[in-house]
Parts: sequence; structure tokens; C-alpha cells
Amino acid sequence: MRTIDDLDVKGRRVLVRADLNVPLDGETITDDGRIRASVPTIQTLAGRGAKVVVCAHLGRPKGKAEPKYSLRPVAARLGELLGQDVAFATDVVGDSAQATVAGLQDGQVALLENLRYEPGEESKDDQERGEFAARLAALAELYVGDGFGAVHRKHASVYDVPRLLPHAAGGLVVGEVEVLRRLTEHPERPYVVVLGGAKVSDKLGVIASLLTKVDRLLVGGGMAYTFLKAQGHEVGQSLLQEDQLDQVRGFLDQAAERGVELVLPVDVLAATEFGKDAPHDVVEASAIPADRQGLDIGPKTRELFAAKLADARTVFWNGPMGVFEFDAFAGGTRAVAEALIASDAFTVVGGGDSAAAVRRLGLPEDGFSHISTGGGASLEYLEGKTLPGLAALEDAE
Ligand code: ADP
Ligand code: MG
Repeated sequence: MRTIDDLDVKGRRVLVRADLNVPLDGETITDDGRIRASVPTIQTLAGRGAKVVVCAHLGRPKGKAEPKYSLRPVAARLGELLGQDVAFATDVVGDSAQATVAGLQDGQVALLENLRYEPGEESKDDQERGEFAARLAALAELYVGDGFGAVHRKHASVYDVPRLLPHAAGGLVVGEVEVLRRLTEHPERPYVVVLGGAKVSDKLGVIASLLTKVDRLLVGGGMAYTFLKAQGHEVGQSLLQEDQLDQVRGFLDQAAERGVELVLPVDVLAATEFGKDAPHDVVEASAIPADRQGLDIGPKTRELFAAKLADARTVFWNGPMGVFEFDAFAGGTRAVAEALIASDAFTVVGGGDSAAAVRRLGLPEDGFSHISTGGGASLEYLEGKTLPGLAALEDAE
């Protein structure tokens, strides 16, 4: 993959596909991690005298302008972090975008409005996507792919534009790929993966693939209940995906055959309802009352998971251990995060919510070897899939 060091950018318009998909509460950015991660590449290009045109998406506006998904607040925050004004175009490829780009001096930065306001961005129709890509490409002379969180999408700004312009990978993408390569090619062992989050179905592919590679797989979060049920335990009102039970039984068998240690919760915090102040007790994972739901892993499980992480040389963690958004159910996620911080292993956190949890809990981000900006993208990479945005960047021109 060519990097930005291979491009001569001075005085040229460079379109940077970034991942600025941050959580918003109204117009307030509640976690600016992805914006901060995008700064170095933009700053380097601007510092070398490029006219930097940043494009990105926010949320799922489904092909039309929707003010609540506007990137305007992101432009302001990006400007603060860069320490220079960021011009904001109120459309993606229309009059405002063209005028904004035309007004850039060398070293200045502009942000286009949400790419997903345009139906062509996500279109499955190659021609519709291609037409939008051509309009986007016409705004610039060079392309830099730096939106790691979107490289698993076959979208115009990710997949089609790099075929139309000389291109390179930005520093964020280069760094993410290096880390993921280290996880997939000869990881130091023991290699332990911790999976959590809401749904097993989101992560079936990666579980199947990880079972052929890891020494231990620890499963917590909402997805653990489908595993517990598959083992024959009742899980009460806990999150359960009945339709995945067969698949999960297959995983249990496969782990046993391959000698992969599959570690499930032994106790949980069982709450009377889903809510931040829900009354709850610690119960054995094998004795969840019928009217309760498990919202976090229990204290014995936290210790067990920490012990299973203690001698690891490589750790990948994706998905919170409980409903960390509620303080009462954030303890399991905190315990796993602290076990990673305490470990000497090469530790990688992947997943939007997992990374947000680390910051929300006030844990030091530099306590981990790497916090990935891409959840879906890192999982698909680990699964061994070809990521459209990386494939496009690997092509020679
Ligand atoms: P990531 O974005 O890190 O990949 P996911 O999106 O898969 O993680 O899952 C995150 C969500 O899972 C969080 O919103 C969290 O509240 C939810 N979750 C975790 N444990 C449970 C549980 N026991 N019951 C319900 N939801 C849970
Ligand atoms: Mg998520």
C-alpha cells in the first residue's frame, strides 16, 4: 500500500476519506475519539501544503439530507483539534462543496457535508455509485483513504473514488492494518480473545474464524446468554438469540475438538428489569431466575476472566461485558479493561462501544497497545475477509 509519504501533495487538492462517525447528543459530541484519530493525517497533509478536502459520514441518513446527521458540529471540533479553521460545505458535491473547495488556499482544510446524504454513496447499483464517485473525485486531484471504520464498506467514497484518482493510505489505516496483521500472522501465544456486546449474530463469522486461531475465547456481554442456553442453562429474561442456538452449539463442539478453551460467565448480575437503577443480585450463571435478566458479568467471572488474561501474550477484546452505559452494570467491562491494562501482552481493543467504554470509564487509553477505530472493519479483517476499501488502496493506481 502506498502511503501519504509517496504522494506529492503541495498545492494540490487532496480528498481524504476519514471516519468521523461520532456519537452525538443533539449537537454535542459525546466521544470525539474518531475525530482525534483522524487529525494526524489531515495535519500532515495540510502541513505539506495540500488543500485538504475531508469527506466522511455520520449515522444513517439513508440518502437524503437530515439535519440531525449534519457534520457541522464535527467541523467545529475538528477545527479546534487542528488549531485551524475548517471550512464547512453544506452539501456533498453541489454548489457549496465546489465553492468551498475552490476557496481553499494551500494548507487549508474543508469538510464536506455527510456523504450519506447522497444516495449514490451506499448504492448497491455500480452505475449509481460510480456516478456519485465521479462527482466526488472531480473535487480533487489525489485521494487518501484514512477512514478505517468504513473500509469494510463497498461505498463510493471508500471503494470507487480510489479507482478514479492517484491514491494512498493515510497513517491511521496503515497503523490499523499493521496491528491487525500482527494479530492474524503469528500472534504470540497464549492468544486470548474476549468477546462481548449485544448480539451473537453480529459476530458469528469472527467466532468461527477465531476458533481456528486462538488459545482461549472468553465470552461475556449479552451474547454470553445464547452460549449459556446452548449449554442447557435457563437464562430468564436475558438477551437470547434462539435462532442462533444451533450455531452456538456448533461452536462449543468445535472449541472442544480443537482444544480451544471457551470460557463463559459463572455468575451474573441479574436485574429485575432493563434500566439504570434496576434492582439486581449476583446469581450463579446456572441459576438465573425466570423473571430476571443478566446485565453484567458477576464478581467471580471478573476474577476468572482476569486470571485467564494474566498469562496472555496477545489479547484482542471486542464488545462490553455488560450494559456499561448504566454505572451499576459497568463493573464487568471495567474489570476486563483493567486486566488488559495490567497485562504485558500486546493488547488490542476493537469495537466502537468497547472503545467508548474505555473512555467513559475514565481508563487511560495508553494502557492498551492499540485501540482500533473500526469495530466492524477489524472484525471482518480478523475473519479473513477482503475489505473493499483496503483492496482499492492496494491497487497500483
Ligand atoms: P462493539 O461496538 O464494541 O462491537 P457491540 O455493539 O457488539 O459492541 O455491543 C455493545 C452493546 O452491548 C452495548 O450497548 C451494551 O449495552 C450491550 N450489552 C452488553 N452486555 C449486555 C447485556 N448483558 N444485555 C444487554 N445488552 C448488553
Ligand atoms: Mg457497537
